[in-house]
Amino acid sequence: MNIVKTVAEVREQVKKWKSEGLSVGLVPTMGYLHDGHASLMDASKRDNDRTVVSIFVNPMQFGPTEDLDSYPRDLEHDSKIAEEHGADLIFNPEPEEMYHDNFSSFVDMTVLTEELCGLSRPVHFRGVCTVVTKLFNIVQPDRAYFGKKDAQQLAVIRHMVDDLNMDIEIIGCPIVREADGLAKSSRNTYLNAEERKAALILSQAAALGSKLVQNGETDCTVILNAMKEKIQTEPLARIDYVKIVDAATMQQITVVDRPALCAMAVYIGKTRLIDNFFTEDIGNGGAA
Ligand code: AMP
Repeated sequence: MNIVKTVAEVREQVKKWKSEGLSVGLVPTMGYLHDGHASLMDASKRDNDRTVVSIFVNPMQFGPTEDLDSYPRDLEHDSKIAEEHGADLIFNPEPEEMYHDNFSSFVDMTVLTEELCGLSRPVHFRGVCTVVTKLFNIVQPDRAYFGKKDAQQLAVIRHMVDDLNMDIEIIGCPIVREADGLAKSSRNTYLNAEERKAALILSQAAALGSKLVQNGETDCTVILNAMKEKIQTEPLARIDYVKIVDAATMQQITVVDRPALCAMAVYIGKTRLIDNFFTEDIGNGGAA
């Protein structure tokens, strides 16, 4: 497995693979890889002849008061995980390689980015759409893999690919969790022992909401109130949002009468964590 830092090196490698008729999968990440990322690599390996993993902590998707500088990084550890999961190439550019001094083109999206994380993190999805478009243009993959952990991101990318006629298949992969239910995340490393315990409230609230829907509850107020009450039993937790939206448009709904996403962002101490469930996945373990 090769680790490259320049766009030119990725292009050269991918061009060679394509000339041999090989298919290419892309797994975009910010690194500090864990089993969630590994599941995306496994899926890419299953579907494609070659897999490219990008590791890039994208400054453009962080707001001015967010954790860009403290975001965990460990390329040595990441290359071990990527190698173990069959990646063929890691693309690990420096910010200057992705954004030269006079960089001034952006990919932005309305509607789908107006709720949930888009509301709490105003510049986030512009940064995500721009960097993912750049990665798609650089790697030109046949397929790209995204986790349902970042459910709004997955919906936004699917929509962008459709809107802008990008010839790439987007594959959504189930949330990978710790044994006790906490969704795996690079940001879990910020949690101290007490916060790590408290963080379980997210998956517990998601399980409660999911159970209510499974039992036939369709009133979003009832579902959301039950989830919020549950989260509020945890003294270290502070709710950013808990909402139910249309799974395709990401607009809030009041009745679960169509495929929906129930998503939350909750601060545990200073760490902002997210979790969610799609109503369509209830009972099938979150399969794509
Ligand atoms: P990140 O490095 O956090 O930007 O994540 C890179 C990709 O991995 C995104 O598509 C995430 O949705 C996905 N991902 C992160 N955590 C998980 C998880 N626990 N389960 C499944 N996918 C995940």
